[in-house]
Amino acid sequence: MRAYEVIKKKRDRGTLSSAEIAFVIKGFTDGSIPDYQMSALLMAIVLNGLDAKELAAWTKAMLESGQVLDLSAIPGVKVDKHSTGGVGDKISLPLAPLVAAAGVRVPMVSGRGLGHTGGTLDKLQSIPGFRVDLSTADYQRLVAQVGACLIGQTKEIAPADKKLYALRDVTATVESIPLIASSIMSKKLAEGIDALVLDVKVGSGAFMKTLPDAKKLAATMVGIGTRMGKKVVALLTDMDQPLGLAVGNALEVKESIDVLSGGGPEDIVLLTVELGAHMLVLGKVAKNLEAGRKTIRERIADRSGLAKFREIAVMQGGDGTVIDQPWNLPAAKHTREVVAAKAGVIQAIDAEAVGVAALVVGAGREKVDDVIDPGAGVVLAAKRGDTVKKGQPLATIHYNADARLDESIQRLTAAFRIGRGAVRKKPLFLGVVK
Ligand code: URA
Repeated sequence: MRAYEVIKKKRDRGTLSSAEIAFVIKGFTDGSIPDYQMSALLMAIVLNGLDAKELAAWTKAMLESGQVLDLSAIPGVKVDKHSTGGVGDKISLPLAPLVAAAGVRVPMVSGRGLGHTGGTLDKLQSIPGFRVDLSTADYQRLVAQVGACLIGQTKEIAPADKKLYALRDVTATVESIPLIASSIMSKKLAEGIDALVLDVKVGSGAFMKTLPDAKKLAATMVGIGTRMGKKVVALLTDMDQPLGLAVGNALEVKESIDVLSGGGPEDIVLLTVELGAHMLVLGKVAKNLEAGRKTIRERIADRSGLAKFREIAVMQGGDGTVIDQPWNLPAAKHTREVVAAKAGVIQAIDAEAVGVAALVVGAGREKVDDVIDPGAGVVLAAKRGDTVKKGQPLATIHYNADARLDESIQRLTAAFRIGRGAVRKKPLFLGVVK
């Protein structure tokens, strides 16, 4: 078999066989198929797609490029959550401890931030000492013992995806529903789960800008999971403005601690409760969503979720005292307010622009090896639908290095669209796909 023939077939809208797909994924992972041939194939897939059978074979080959972790010795249904990514999306931080405190084990393999979206691993690592590079043996032990463990993609988990993602990132081949779906699902299926709740983001800060595209991605991922014998539910949720108020690593940990302490922004609380309820139903500890929502709210009220977060942090090498004293988390030395240039009602907040405003002062990466400043970021003072006076603060930039402060101010100011007239409230929840 030759890679050239496989590329040509997909270029000409042909259907690849499972053997051809296994051949290219294996060859790319072991280095016998070079980046330039895989790039050409990826672009042909972006343009011509993969049908359901090809997609199943592609995902299976990615999954089988590494190890599939076996958590079957741990009792109970193991349930994870995955978000397709957004700005200010720190939901995994309050969610995993709350669900674990409610009795469902949560094995979670998370990602780093790249571009305007943040990553759970970077947020967790703003807790001094927190380790996300645990061995698979430690990961398995902590899932059993603590109830939740949050780690990064190891070299054993779907190595084909790690290589493919890096290549897609620089060849304009990320935005393809079959490629995104197989990338996410191959990692999730490798981590040893029985069930999965997906949070598919829709809007200006998300990969999927429109509801029909998001629905298609959700249905594609649910289809892959179901064919592999897993229970998968996807929620479609709004990402037309940042989630919560904080965007930036330690700032988002602090907001998560607020949620676990019974406070925090309403959208973060609602999303945590809803995703948690679905996880408890799939984990068979709640008989329906209403009971699941009640349990998650109780684990917030009795602070057992907060205690579980502290336990997770300590067991993963972190300084648990910052959970009770969040003012000891890394903080930026300086702050700068961005104010409203005119009076009116906030019509929209461009989530991607806010993400980039935080990134340029050090909260994110532009290149994979950029170093993150854990204290840097943006805290919003107003959200869509709020009425503001001229000169009223819209957001505060937290920064140490001021080299790109002006750029951050400009981006952040431009992110807010202020106009006349009331704004129709947009729902946070846009649908469920099962
Ligand atoms: N997240 C992933 O893990 N993969 C993609 O392709 C896109 C988002």
